[in-house]
Amino acid sequence: MRRKIAILGSTGSIGTQALEVIDKHPDKFEVEVLTAHNNVGLLIEQSIKYKPNCVVIANENFYQQAFDALDPLHIKVYGGEQSLASVMEMDSIDIVLTALVGYSGLLPTLKAIETGKSIALANKETLVVAGELITKLAREKGVNILPVDSEHSAIFQCIVGEFQNPIEKIILTASGGPFRGRTKEQLLEVTKAQALNHPNWDMGAKITIDSATMMNKGLEVIEAKWLFGVSLDQIEVIVHPQSIIHSMVQFEDGSLKAQLGLPDMRLPIQFALGYPERLKADYPRFDFSEYPQLTFEKPDIETFRNLGLAFEVASNGGNQPCILNAANEIAVQGFLDEKIGFLEISDVIENCLKRVSYIRTPVLEDFVESDKETRALALELI
Ligand code: NDP
Ligand code: MG
Repeated sequence: MRRKIAILGSTGSIGTQALEVIDKHPDKFEVEVLTAHNNVGLLIEQSIKYKPNCVVIANENFYQQAFDALDPLHIKVYGGEQSLASVMEMDSIDIVLTALVGYSGLLPTLKAIETGKSIALANKETLVVAGELITKLAREKGVNILPVDSEHSAIFQCIVGEFQNPIEKIILTASGGPFRGRTKEQLLEVTKAQALNHPNWDMGAKITIDSATMMNKGLEVIEAKWLFGVSLDQIEVIVHPQSIIHSMVQFEDGSLKAQLGLPDMRLPIQFALGYPERLKADYPRFDFSEYPQLTFEKPDIETFRNLGLAFEVASNGGNQPCILNAANEIAVQGFLDEKIGFLEISDVIENCLKRVSYIRTPVLEDFVESDKETRALALELI
């Protein structure tokens, strides 16, 4: 039986790489749902090739264009962000790959879990905003959340076969991004083009800026806390500029396991979609002789304040991670639009954390409200 995959965000970096994985394994996977936000041209092209059962174009302005192209091919077309959640109810979906960017992934992911679909989770912001809610619901529904993020896939690959053995510590590796080693003064003047130039990974714009500010690692700390049920003091971040060791797990006997490979997101995507099977792939292999040195250093949280902020909000809990995420999304967009400087991204986040009221035990409506309030405040600050 081929697994029927819904790709939320098929036009993005993760979405398009997932389709490459599916191309290599036509006997294992078929495409059931594709979704895009603005890139209607690519959505139509993908739909003609993969013939999904249905597609969603989240920006309704492009609905008619998608409908005119795909209705004659008997592909159902829906428009609007709310349709992202409603198509998740389709019984025919086996796995949902959440490759939307930011908060937009929350409601569709909740709906997918509610209706019992396995989740291949790339959209880490969903777990940052509402990790407790999501993981609790997944447990209740008996739904697997398989990580796609390379570090979390690495951790998962290290603990397969060790499920009875407690984790002592998780060591999350970070590349350090394009500005590793710079001082605050040097960061004052960095440009959008420099920040978008990641040394090891080719990713969407938002996560690339998050990598440059180290917010990405902060979000990943929170993601790891929820995915693996560990406390914050069991998570250590270490900078490893070569991005070959994707992360490590230390067990209670002191033994460490690591997962290694070239930085290529098709590997963790394929591992999640194919789990528990490791499918054959002919992607380039790692060669030790080309990497005579793998190096490690402590992260500089004085300069890269976002990483420290993420640890703080994770420890405060409640709606704080949601506020951090919303402020960060708006601040990153402000930086990409060249309205604020690189260091001001953290200023916006800190300000929002001070000013949006704290809710200790938020329910879904509180997250929706905190997200909205924070976005408005962050926009005002910018
Ligand atoms: P991209 O920006 O490349 O793609 C995002 C996708 O989501 C696109 O299909 C886009 O549509 C769609 N989208 C964006 N905003 C909305 C919205 N408001 N409503 C509906 N759809 C929307 O992002 P990435 O692929 O880089 O990242 C996706 C997720 O995966 C993020 O959470 C990221 O943190 C995570 N991730 C990414 C990695 C990578 O290597 N790229 C690695 C690890 C995690 P359109 O393009 O049509 O407008
Ligand atoms: Mg990652």
